[in-house]
Amino acid sequence: MPMFVDTSPPGHCIFCKIVAGEIPAAKVYEDELTIAFMDIGQVNPGHVLVASKRHAVTVLELTPEEAAAVMQSAQRIAQAAQQAFAPDGITLFQANGAAGGQTVFHFHMHVLPRHEGDGVELAWPRKEPAVQLLQGYADKLRAALSTLV
Ligand SMILES: [Zn+2]
Repeated sequence: MPMFVDTSPPGHCIFCKIVAGEIPAAKVYEDELTIAFMDIGQVNPGHVLVASKRHAVTVLELTPEEAAAVMQSAQRIAQAAQQAFAPDGITLFQANGAAGGQTVFHFHMHVLPRHEGDGVELAWPRKEPAVQLLQGYADKLRAALSTLV
């Protein structure tokens, strides 16, 4: 996990300053809703961040249009990274909230070219609960979905 944590207030965060052109970034792509630039941390060559241009902290705050635009930009960057760096694989990584691993509190998705044995790890503690429990979780989610506009 990156060590840098940006605690700037909304609208003054490091990514808002990049969007506004107030601080330099190695920009790769931008459109009406998204901007893509090189991650200063560069886990592997070609590691890009795709951010919403508007300051939204997490995926919960994106509009449906912004969410779609971020994924479309991430796919384009992934295609470009495949062509430019020929990685063995590509990981899309997106974190929400400190507990989710977010360190810059402006929505962004990592497009990370991957190579065998590159040392990137994410602990994934499988629980494998009973099917009845999964049905209960699904019931709760379907009920919540039915309340969304
Ligand atoms: Zn921001």
